[in-house]
Amino acid sequence: MTGKVKFSYGPMDCGKSTLALQIDHNLARQGRQGLLLVRHDRSGNAQITSRIGITRQALEVEADTDVRAVVRQAWERGKHVDYLIVDEAQFLSPEQVEQLAELADESCIDVYCFGIATDFRSVLFPGAQRLFELADELQPVQVEVLCWCGRPGRFNARVADGVVLRTGDTVFVADTVPNPDSGSTGEVNSGPTRSSTELATVRYQVLCRRHFRLGEVGPDASGQGQLQLA
Ligand SMILES: [Zn+2]
Repeated sequence: MTGKVKFSYGPMDCGKSTLALQIDHNLARQGRQGLLLVRHDRSGNAQITSRIGITRQALEVEADTDVRAVVRQAWERGKHVDYLIVDEAQFLSPEQVEQLAELADESCIDVYCFGIATDFRSVLFPGAQRLFELADELQPVQVEVLCWCGRPGRFNARVADGVVLRTGDTVFVADTVPNPDSGSTGEVNSGPTRSSTELATVRYQVLCRRHFRLGEVGPDASGQGQLQLA
């Protein structure tokens, strides 16, 4: 008998963290015991924080954390580990994803990962890529996030002054800035190094593929008026 690795993925604001906490709740009610892990939670603390207000304490996975050791330490404290819930799993290293697969295969632990598939360039995060390669089950999170045009939103565009940015760091601290449209905060939260001026000008916006490709953030947000009939 082996455990399973499952990756539920979707764009920002689609309710992944809420789903992660719901699954934890359901498994705990079945009498199963698990650990909650998070990489770069938006709150800045080791918590899984959902935008609808539910928060649970979690263990922070650092860049050099061996996830197998985290589980071993829980065992040493006498805690049984039936499952792991991993939020912001796109930020795991490929090696950490392989450690999760090993825990599933060798220790019979079910691993539930939640995260974003692609970064602001529409390129897979390395951790998400390894999850796509190794997971037993892949599941798009079905909560609809719509582009301003009404099509399904699939890409997290990084926007500054109405312009979709195509280059830059994969993880950017400005993601902590509230999104003026949704009132929510961004998905990633990586470090304290940028100035508040930079923070104020960069935000994320979920776009459909067409408008991501064209770099069109919508008539209201761009300040550039009418859509082009391209
Ligand atoms: Zn669109």
